[in-house]
Amino acid sequence: MTDKKIYLYGPVPSRRLGLSFGIDIAPLKVCTLDCIYCQLGKTAQTTIERKEYIPIEPILAELKEALAEGLEADYITIAGSGEPTLNSRLGELIDGIKKVTNIPIAILTNGTLLSRAEVRADCSKADIVMPSLDAGDERTFQRINRPNSVFSVEKLISGLCAFREEFSGQIWLEVFFVEGINTGAEQIAGIKEAIELINPDKVHLNTAVRPTADPNIARISAEKLQEIAGRLGPKCEVVADFSPASSSILSESKSEDILKAHSLINSKAEALLSMLKRRPCSLNDICSGLGINRNEAIKHISNLLHQGIIQSEEKEGIVFFKAIS
Ligand code: SF4
Repeated sequence: MTDKKIYLYGPVPSRRLGLSFGIDIAPLKVCTLDCIYCQLGKTAQTTIERKEYIPIEPILAELKEALAEGLEADYITIAGSGEPTLNSRLGELIDGIKKVTNIPIAILTNGTLLSRAEVRADCSKADIVMPSLDAGDERTFQRINRPNSVFSVEKLISGLCAFREEFSGQIWLEVFFVEGINTGAEQIAGIKEAIELINPDKVHLNTAVRPTADPNIARISAEKLQEIAGRLGPKCEVVADFSPASSSILSESKSEDILKAHSLINSKAEALLSMLKRRPCSLNDICSGLGINRNEAIKHISNLLHQGIIQSEEKEGIVFFKAIS
């Protein structure tokens, strides 16, 4: 067993996927977009170049090792600290995963590259594809997603429609709302129109409940998000986690799985740091994510704070912790 997993993380609790084992195939902020709400900071330079940013052989070796050690997860989620479809060996990676496990595969993507046939072919190998769409009109798309200059909202929507035509698996679209940017009646009507064209299986609504790169980003209220869900139609569901208490999203029965899964990782502190490198987490997130109690979590957090490896930040009355990059 290797001491440390580089490309794999978790399993972590996911509101949408249950217990999700993540595979990171894009380096930090290598992305086609520069979303204003990104939790990972600003994209220094957007890119559209597809290449083998991270080689798949060591990823598959780590996965085989984790499976041999008894990995259990509801999904293997291909994501990244950037846009995973930029990795040109995505399709080969999915083929490789399917050879060694029956755990279903999900891909988290911003959807921009689905306008390319080869990216659609790669993504079609997964079981669930979870693209984003935050705008139905060009002006809002530019404001919220700040895309590489080759993209337009029309191109994004037509790529998603083409993918719907070709893909027989599940498409779960995520719409991220930022107060004052895409929450007006006109913007919501544009998003609704796009959803009807794309025809996803589910639509998940989210907002900035965690600290974002731009501290001025305002989340919308739970009530307003629920009201928007009603307007957007029956496939829509709010997935934003507003309550600190409810961020313990795991059922009791999952706790044992998590403990078992995390015995794969060298130490709790290492697992905690791995979580915080990927997204800011509250104390409750950390407890449920690592299957540990508050006292133990506080002990690890204090150590990492003391060493200057992580920092805390408050948002809407909740303290989040994140790794210092
Ligand atoms: S697509 Fe994702 S990684 Fe890229 S800028 Fe937007 S939120 Fe960040």
